[in-house]
Amino acid sequence: MATAAVVGCLMLLAGMNFMFLSLFGQFVVRTSRRSSAEAEHGVVRIHRGGSKALGPCERGVQLSEGQVSNVSMVKPWEREALSHCPLCGGVDAVPVVDRRVRGVPLRFVKSTGCGLVYQNPRLTLGAAREYFNSTTFFRDGEDNEGGLESLLGYPDYGVSELGVRRTAAYRLRRISAFVPPPARLLEIGSATGVFLDEARLAGYEVRGLDLSAPFAERAGSVYGLEVDVASVEDFPLPERAYDVICCWGGIPCWHDFVKGLANVGRSLKSGGVFVMTHSNIESLLARVLGSRYFEFNPGVFTVFSVSTMSRALDMTGFDSIVVETDRQFASVGWILTYLRSTFLLRAVRALGIEKAVVPVVALTSVFRVCRNRSHD
Ligand SMILES: [Zn+2]
Repeated sequence: MATAAVVGCLMLLAGMNFMFLSLFGQFVVRTSRRSSAEAEHGVVRIHRGGSKALGPCERGVQLSEGQVSNVSMVKPWEREALSHCPLCGGVDAVPVVDRRVRGVPLRFVKSTGCGLVYQNPRLTLGAAREYFNSTTFFRDGEDNEGGLESLLGYPDYGVSELGVRRTAAYRLRRISAFVPPPARLLEIGSATGVFLDEARLAGYEVRGLDLSAPFAERAGSVYGLEVDVASVEDFPLPERAYDVICCWGGIPCWHDFVKGLANVGRSLKSGGVFVMTHSNIESLLARVLGSRYFEFNPGVFTVFSVSTMSRALDMTGFDSIVVETDRQFASVGWILTYLRSTFLLRAVRALGIEKAVVPVVALTSVFRVCRNRSHD
C-alpha cells in the first residue's frame, strides 16, 4: 500500500498519465557514429558492444552470450526507401519525425492519403533480422551513456518478466471468454516464452513464432516451448490451424503488415480469434511525448492509430469485435523508463521500489479481439 502511494505521488508530481506500451514495439540497436559519406549513402553500421556479464539473478531473463548470434563484427546496415504508403498506396507524405539518436537516423512520415505514420527510409528485412538478433536488442541500458533520452530500445528486457507474466494471466482470462481451453494458440513475437508458458498452464496447446533466435532458444531451453524462428510475412503458417493467434505490440515491427495479417487470417480456424495490442499515435500521451515517443525507433516500421489499424484489419479481412484501452502490469522502473523520466527513475531506485509491479492503464496501447470475416 505504501509503495502504491509513493508511486502515485511521483506520477502526480510528474504530471504524466500512467501508461505503458506492449513489449514488442521497442527494439535496441547500437551503432557507431556515421561518417558524413555514410550518411549521404544511407548506410549505418552496427556493432555489438563488449560482452559485459549480466548482473545478478534479479534480472530474471538472462541470455548467455552463447545464445546471441554473431553480430559482433561491424557490418553495413542496409536501409531502403518506400515509394508509397503501405496502407493506401499514396505517394504523398509529410515528415513527422526527422532526427538522430546516437547516430541512428529516425525519419517517420505521415501519409496524406490515409494518415498512416511509417518509417521511411527504414531497415531492409535482412538488416532487421540482424537487429533483432543482436545482443543490444535485449538490453541497451548498460552501455548507453546518454541516459533515457538516447535509449533506442529495451534498457533490459529481463527486468520486465514479472510484469509480462501477470499481464499474460490477465489477457488469458480475457481470451478464454471468447475461446476457452483446450484450444490451439499461436503467439507471434513470443519472446522469452512467458506468455506461452502461462497459456499452457491455462490449458492451451501452444506454439510460438519469433524473429529472434536468442529469444526462441531461451523459450525452448527454459520452458520447453516450440518456437519457430521466422518473420510472420514469410513463414508458412498452417491453414485454419489455430483457435487463437496473439501478438502483443508486435505488428508495428512487421516489415509488411498487410502480408503478415493476411497470413494470420488464413491460419485461423472458423470461429477463431486474433487477439492483439498496438500502439496509438493519436493518444494524448503520444502527443505529449512527441518525437520522444518510444515507438519512434529503428525497429518500428509503422506507428498505428486506432483508425489506421482498423483500416489495415479491414483490408485484410478482419472485423474487430473488441477495441479498448489496454491494461497491463509493469514494474515502476519500466514505466518511468518508458516515460523517459530520468529524475523519477533515480528517485524510485533510491526508494528501492524500481521492481515493484503495478497495474497500468496503458493509454497509448489498444487491445483488440478480431475475427476473420471470411471464415464465419
Ligand atoms: Zn496512406
